[in-house]
Amino acid sequence: MSIEQNIQRINSELPAHVTLVAVSKTKPVSDLMEAYHAGQHVFGENYVQELVEKEHQMPKDIKWHFIGHLQSRKVKLIAPFVSLIHGVDSFKLLQEINKQAEKNNRVIDCLLQIFIAEEESKFGLDEQELFEIIQSDAFQQLNNIRIVGFMGMATFTENKTQIEKEFKQLKSLFDQYKQLNEQPKSTSNFQLETLSMGMSGDYLLAISCGSTMVRIGSSIFGFRN
Ligand SMILES: *Cc1c(COP(=O)(O)O)cnc(C)c1O
Repeated sequence: MSIEQNIQRINSELPAHVTLVAVSKTKPVSDLMEAYHAGQHVFGENYVQELVEKEHQMPKDIKWHFIGHLQSRKVKLIAPFVSLIHGVDSFKLLQEINKQAEKNNRVIDCLLQIFIAEEESKFGLDEQELFEIIQSDAFQQLNNIRIVGFMGMATFTENKTQIEKEFKQLKSLFDQYKQLNEQPKSTSNFQLETLSMGMSGDYLLAISCGSTMVRIGSSIFGFRN
């Protein structure tokens, strides 16, 4: 199937409230343009240099999401244009994003990455770390970032029950924190709307567990080397 057909097929499966992020890491600009012409205007990239180069070459109405592990010293390279940063997993990184956003006169939307997998290797905040960040005074003073949701990656396994358990756990945490938004004291830089979970192998399961944003690479562009 072509990239265009893959996008049409996936779109036909997604409920209207779910956003498709086309994960284009390692793929050439020609592939991305094929997706763009099929109507796909949201792309996710994992590597800063690659993202910067592609942003340069592609149409300006694309929304670029950074979905990889972001190093603080590289934030300044994407701060002028990035539309959403998915994998924020420390307060230090959040401070740097805020600083670079301010320099660019903008507010950058971010998702906090929450650790839900069993593997040690996956990045993310645990519930205690999340709580400490959100309730701190220092966080409430960051005026150039906005936490618009959470992102999570399930354990790399064939065991659907395990994956489902992890997605549901993240959804329940999301709902719990979303309630905080409705309280008078909640700050304007913390407005949960988006729950980013689900990739090529598990996006339908993720949606059934409450995902509102899926990050799909290989099912659109084919396997990566
Ligand atoms: C690569 C990647 C994806 C897409 O993975 P596929 O299995 O190819 O759909 C999604 N999310 C993150 C964080 C990734 O690094």
